[in-house]
Amino acid sequence: MTSQRGAVPDSANPDVVLVGGGIMSATLAALFGVVAPQWDVVVFESGADVAGESSDAWNNAGTGHAALCELNYTPAGPHGRVDPAKAVTINEQFQVSRQFWSHLVREGMTGSPKEFITPVPHVSFVTGEDGRAYMRARHEALAAEPLFAGLEYADDPARLAEWIPLMMEGRDPRQVVAATRSVAGTDVNFGTLTRLMLDDAGDRGVPVHLNQRVQHLERDTDGRWRVTVEDTVSGERRIVRARFVFVGAGGGALPLLQRAAVPEIRGFGGFPVSGKFLRTTSPELVSRHQAKVYGQAAVGAPPMSVPHLDLRLIDGDHSLLFGPYAGFSPKFLKAGSMFDLPRSVRPNNLGSMFGVARTEMALTRYLVRELLQTPAARHQTLTHFVPDADENDWDMITAGQRVQVIKRDPATGRGVLQFGTELIVGGDGSIAGLLGASPGASTAVSAMLTLLERCFPDRIPAWRPALREAIPSYGRSLSDDPALLAQVRADTMQTLELNG
Ligand SMILES: Cc1cc2nc3c(=O)[nH]c(=O)nc-3n(C[C@H](O)[C@H](O)[C@H](O)COP(=O)(O)OP(=O)(O)OC[C@H]3O[C@@H](n4cnc5c(N)ncnc54)[C@H](O)[C@@H]3O)c2cc1C
Repeated sequence: MTSQRGAVPDSANPDVVLVGGGIMSATLAALFGVVAPQWDVVVFESGADVAGESSDAWNNAGTGHAALCELNYTPAGPHGRVDPAKAVTINEQFQVSRQFWSHLVREGMTGSPKEFITPVPHVSFVTGEDGRAYMRARHEALAAEPLFAGLEYADDPARLAEWIPLMMEGRDPRQVVAATRSVAGTDVNFGTLTRLMLDDAGDRGVPVHLNQRVQHLERDTDGRWRVTVEDTVSGERRIVRARFVFVGAGGGALPLLQRAAVPEIRGFGGFPVSGKFLRTTSPELVSRHQAKVYGQAAVGAPPMSVPHLDLRLIDGDHSLLFGPYAGFSPKFLKAGSMFDLPRSVRPNNLGSMFGVARTEMALTRYLVRELLQTPAARHQTLTHFVPDADENDWDMITAGQRVQVIKRDPATGRGVLQFGTELIVGGDGSIAGLLGASPGASTAVSAMLTLLERCFPDRIPAWRPALREAIPSYGRSLSDDPALLAQVRADTMQTLELNG
């Protein structure tokens, strides 16, 4: 367990302050350990433990997003063609994460890789003639890509019954079905991974201070950031002065960056959506569903609403999760305040916020529909995936809060809702923060590498050899280098024990 390592002296002048103990800060702490091990890095976490918000295993779906099964990365284009480009980018990013996690394991990060990553086949599933035509086109586009080698296609119900028996039992035999499957998929416990990375950083001298909420960030005349930290237990406040600050506060990033008056945050807003999942721990059901299966989002529904039925492996226990169902709460963090949303509305983002309310009618309709859903309607949605589902087997759990990014479209001046992540860099590269939640934890390493490149461009040439040693594909494309891809795949499979 990560522990608070002593109080922070008032006069502390660390090189780096990482705000928040989630997967993003943990990843950045690990990357600094590679490129600048001599730097004085400090983590402040407002909660009583690290990884208590979105990075906790039960607060996210644990999918190692590599675009193997998520259909939103491969929408049908003109004439039904599918462009694989976005899926290739996401897969490349996940390969970067796998390489870095392998590096940390090789360098002695404690714990077995099985504690945080497990092979679980990734399946995409559709119904109907249109769905089948789309699935064929998607398979054709992806199977030609080296990163998707081995992706299988099937529309024979008997074959699908071997892949996903729980989903095929009780299904109308006349229904047209189609699926792809990749056995290269994974389930990731991002909570455990975060803890292991921060424990490892702690062993290298990076203190992780718990119950310490960063209240304010202010630029000093000498360029350092005055970081005001409040002890959430004693109420005591102290100030540390850092050369560089990363606001890895998840849903808490937007308000902190607003308070820091970073000009780059102007015009940005956030819209919180909470996720709920149905969960079963029935060994009988789990034994008949050994995959993560993603379907298609309803027409007009946002990408985060894609329904999926996932095998989860958390702390040695197996379960199935189905969802997400959306909920609304104005909080930006699960442990946040009901005033988070109203307080985030500022004169500089008022236009974006109200613009979105006008333009994103599809999202509004989706949320209203979701909020009005009765338990019976939720069960009905589950039966699209598990025709014979018995509601007594399933409980509802509440996952993490996603704060979707609202930003001003420079072309129209109107607010637009974004479903990806947005790296905000301000103060001449001396402060950065991450907004948004998708593709999220899976691509944390790529997100933090981008941060290093944008905040420390002058140092990258000196850092490149160390980064290449930790991440052999750093700065290269695995798609264009079959030999490197084969080597990276073999290395990561062995080190992360993904061979079964
Ligand atoms: C429902 C749901 C499903 C998801 N599914 C997946 C998935 O399947 N695969 C995937 O890759 N990603 C998924 N994600 C996204 C992923 O969980 C997030 O992108 C990722 O966990 C974000 O990590 P983080 O470190 O930025 O934030 P967090 O994990 O939220 O960490 C932020 C930390 O900062 C702390 N904090 C906040 N404010 C302050 C402050 N002022 N001072 C000090 N500390 C502070 C918080 O307590 C928290 O511990 C999902 C997210 C949700 C909500």
